[in-house]
Amino acid sequence: MSQSLQEMLREAAALIEAAETVTVVGHVRSDADAIGSVSALVLALRQLGKQASGLVGQPEPFSANLLSIPGSGEIRITDELPDADLIVTVDCGSIDRTGFFAEAIAERCSQTLVIDHHASNPGFGKVNLLVREAESTTTVLHELFKVLGVKVDREIAHCIYAGLVTDTGSFRWGRAEMHALASELMLTGIDTAAIAVDLMDSTDLRDLQMIGRVLAGVATHQVGDLTIATLTASNDLISGHSEAAVESLVDFVRALRGTDVGVVFKEMSPGTWAVSLRSTVIDVSRIAVALDGGGHVPAAGYTTYGGIGAVETELLQVLESVGAPDRA
Ligand code: AMP
Ligand code: MN
Ligand code: MN
Repeated sequence: MSQSLQEMLREAAALIEAAETVTVVGHVRSDADAIGSVSALVLALRQLGKQASGLVGQPEPFSANLLSIPGSGEIRITDELPDADLIVTVDCGSIDRTGFFAEAIAERCSQTLVIDHHASNPGFGKVNLLVREAESTTTVLHELFKVLGVKVDREIAHCIYAGLVTDTGSFRWGRAEMHALASELMLTGIDTAAIAVDLMDSTDLRDLQMIGRVLAGVATHQVGDLTIATLTASNDLISGHSEAAVESLVDFVRALRGTDVGVVFKEMSPGTWAVSLRSTVIDVSRIAVALDGGGHVPAAGYTTYGGIGAVETELLQVLESVGAPDRA
């Protein structure tokens, strides 16, 4: 482990040790790493005798399948950031990913600890524990727990595993260390087969039919020497379907043979698109950042507005100017 990581861990631990009350914030449109991180940290802080609560700053509840993560039922969906000695954001690649709390956190950044693994994170806290090599934010927390002397019990192990298994696409990528960590977590007695079903295989028949309709519309586009595969999940196709099923669409174009970039345009409400980008060839975090989003080198996203034609053209233009010269 590098010295600077040890230093970041010690600084983060010092902030936590000095606080009695802590608010933990996960990102909007929460995934298993966000909810696993909030839950793991809240459980750990309570073990250390602190008053801790977990929040997500968006209007709608998070995906129902994430309620399988221990402690997640206690996470509040709210627009109010309560008073606390310390705010910790987890898995939030930028301040706007904290949703309703963005302004309040900007004002209280001297009381904020940022814990994350996104390549595009600018560091918006007093202390920023940013580990871009980490497979998930929950694995960064696992390192922090060692410094803080937190016992990784079965519940905390479940939370850490939830972020790890999903953010590695079921262990399809990542470093050797994460397999050792998975083994250590399994030895606490967590049921990894059940966790995989809860987090990744929770679609029903109607969802599967929706997936079929979206897949039927797969298209490819040529941008310079890049071939782009796109799926368009229009609002009329996805509305009323589980978030987990909609989020699973990207796996079909993540690395489609003969293509360089996979894209899913998800129309969350009429005219509002959450766009997912995946590539094993170019750095898609740069594409997402150019469109006011963010993410990792192989997986990134952004939000945009308008009709599908304009939304598609906007992306292809950015891919042409930002994507092609920098093949990773
Ligand atoms: P997704 O395609 O939604 O699974 O997201 C892939 C990665 O990009 C995740 O690590 C997200 O945190 C990040 N990401 C997605 N959408 C945005 C956004 N609107 N702004 C910043 N980062 C995003
Ligand atoms: Mn996440
Ligand atoms: Mn993550």
